[in-house]
This record gives sequence, structure tokens and C-alpha cells, in this order.
Amino acid sequence: MKGRTLVRGWVKGGLRQAVALVGELTTHQDGPRILCYHGVVEQPPDEWSVTPQQLSAQMEIVCGEGNPVSIGQVVAWLLDGGDLPERAIAVTFDDGYQDVLERAAPILDQRRLPGAAFVITGLVDGNARDESYQPTRPLLSWPEIQLLARRGWAIGSHTLSHPILSQQSLAASQKELTASRARLAEVLGQDVSVLAYPYGTRRTVSQRDRDLARAAGYRVALLDSIGAVSRGCDRFALPRCKVLGSDSLRVFRASLSGRLDLWRRIEDR
Ligand SMILES: [Zn+2]
Repeated sequence: MKGRTLVRGWVKGGLRQAVALVGELTTHQDGPRILCYHGVVEQPPDEWSVTPQQLSAQMEIVCGEGNPVSIGQVVAWLLDGGDLPERAIAVTFDDGYQDVLERAAPILDQRRLPGAAFVITGLVDGNARDESYQPTRPLLSWPEIQLLARRGWAIGSHTLSHPILSQQSLAASQKELTASRARLAEVLGQDVSVLAYPYGTRRTVSQRDRDLARAAGYRVALLDSIGAVSRGCDRFALPRCKVLGSDSLRVFRASLSGRLDLWRRIEDR
């Protein structure tokens, strides 16, 4: 990691630790939780990625203290009256880095954990990325995405070019959501029901974008705003618990139990 990125990671890690401590004094919302990862690499270039060792230790906690479920099970629970165990946890990866297949999938497979990957379809096709987004490592190719799908992973959309949707024109935002869903359906030969918004904060995703996600045919859409999913929440703004490389296992446990939910106040401010 570069110096400034490293320091920012430490500061954020310390802040999240403090929030988790304060969170022990509060009550939290029950319900399934969706974890949001990005890549898994030996030497993470930024705070968004974790090491294989971190992921392994975290998945041990997920299996030991929670009940792993697929994102499809969460959707079925939310919309179709399906059952879910207590402390249900789904594991998702945004951006579609190659290391999701190479590093994350073997760790999840080892524990029979279902995974989900949200891919940026235009970038997989070799088209231009949005200027706000800079991939730090190679992305999955279509054959690799198809391989993940055959291995039981859920594949969802992370738009065409990873823009800040709320800053796009209506037509551009609509295209990002509809064309990426259509492309995935074409390549995978199946309906695509889940969208993960790029950046996924309440500032980068407007109500208009949520409406466009609904109109594009998704069944649910995921933010990166921490919290538990509840049957009463807006299904086009489902919360997810983002896991950062600077998170200690204590902070990770706090994000599973709800003790870190106060973090949303900091991030949404
Ligand atoms: Zn992303």
C-alpha cells in the first residue's frame, strides 16, 4: 500500500474499532446480513481488499458464529416468504476482480460457502471505464465469470462502467442498469435479479436510480450502507456490511452482530 492510503486505512480501522466499542452499548437490528468484499490479494493495494488469510479467518467466524446463506436465499426470504436461519450471512464480492476466482472461491469452496460476484459488464467487454473508477488489478473475463456461475456462484450486475449513478443523466443511468443486466443474461443464459450499485452510498445512489433499478427488472439492489436486511426495508436499497482490509476480527464480529451499525451515521453524513 502507498503511504497515504496506508495511513488512511489505519485511521479508518481505528475509527471502526471505536464505533464497535460504542456499539456494544446499543441495541441492533436483527435479520440477515450481506457482507461486501472486493478483492482478495496477498498485498492489498488499498483498504477495499483483504488478504487470503483475513478472508479465511473471517469465513471461519461466519461458519462458526453465523449461518452462511446465498444471496438468492436472502432474496427469496425477502420477496417470496422463504425461510432463513437465525444469523444468516451472505457473502458478496464487487467489481469482479480475477482474484475472486483465484483466491476467494477456493476459500469459500473449502467451507461450502455460497458466494456472489457483481461484475462491471462493459469493462469485461473491453469498453471504457467511468473516469471515477480505476481498477487496481485484472478483472474476470467472460469465460471465468461463466466458470464461477457453473461453480454455483450467483452473478449480478455492477453496471456497465462503474459510474457515480446519481451524477449521470437519466438516460445514461438507465443504460448502465438495463444494458448490463441484458448482457449478463445473454452470457449466462439466465435471468439476473440482483444489482450492486457502484459506490453504494446514499449520496452516490439517488431515489431516481432506485426507481430505474426497479424498472430495469432487478428484484433487489444493494447499497454499501451497513445494517441488517429487514422485510420492511426498501428492496432497491438493501444494506450491506462492507469489510475493509484494516478491520480487526473484533470489528468484523461487530459488523456481523450489529455493533458496528452506528458506522452508517459516519458514512452517510
Ligand atoms: Zn465497485
